[in-house]
Amino acid sequence: MNRVHLIPLSISNSYLIKGPVNTLVDTGSPGEGKKIIQALNKLGLQLSDLSLILHTHGHSDHYGSTHELVKLHPVPTMLHSGDLHMALSGSNGPIATTTLFSRLLRPLVDKPFQPHKPHHLADNLSDLSQFGLNASLHHTPGHSEGSISIALDSGDIIIGDILMGGMMGGAFFPAQPGYHYFIEDREKIHRSIEAVLQLRGERYWVGHGGPFSYSAIARWYEKIV
Ligand SMILES: [Zn+2]
Ligand SMILES: [Zn+2]
Repeated sequence: MNRVHLIPLSISNSYLIKGPVNTLVDTGSPGEGKKIIQALNKLGLQLSDLSLILHTHGHSDHYGSTHELVKLHPVPTMLHSGDLHMALSGSNGPIATTTLFSRLLRPLVDKPFQPHKPHHLADNLSDLSQFGLNASLHHTPGHSEGSISIALDSGDIIIGDILMGGMMGGAFFPAQPGYHYFIEDREKIHRSIEAVLQLRGERYWVGHGGPFSYSAIARWYEKIV
């Protein structure tokens, strides 16, 4: 059985999926490679024990340390092509902010990062069996065009930034779901939230704050649509 381990970083969450194979999901902001390796070590793993580095999307606070890690050990990487321009340029490009607070926050998440061309694209992949991981893959755009979600047989679903926990980037009420500060396409976000609800997960893990129960998301979503 796979288990999800949260790796809290400076402003975002990374995850280790530990099981028959080990998969890192997201790499935080630029310069967080060491912190990730230390977290892996605490879980009894080395960087070389990873079979895959999977990215929920290409923003700087999720893709920022990928280059650094892959330089230390050539772990295969994966991203959806919708965010390929970020990975190749080392920049988020224009980010649509939703509130004044998010405009103030933008410099934090908008740091340039070392470009890295992913080895694999997540497009048209419905599961990760070819990487030895028993998990389904879902294209869930809206926060960014290349956002994906990963659903495990354990009932854990990692949904990246399609939702966000609590207030002030998850510092308060982290288990309360809400909109992310940055939304590229609100219609698509709604379709993506519906898609991950349909998966009926037990725990939903996000890029900031979290995790959420199925019912917490369902209750919140009912109120806003
Ligand atoms: Zn993001
Ligand atoms: Zn983020």
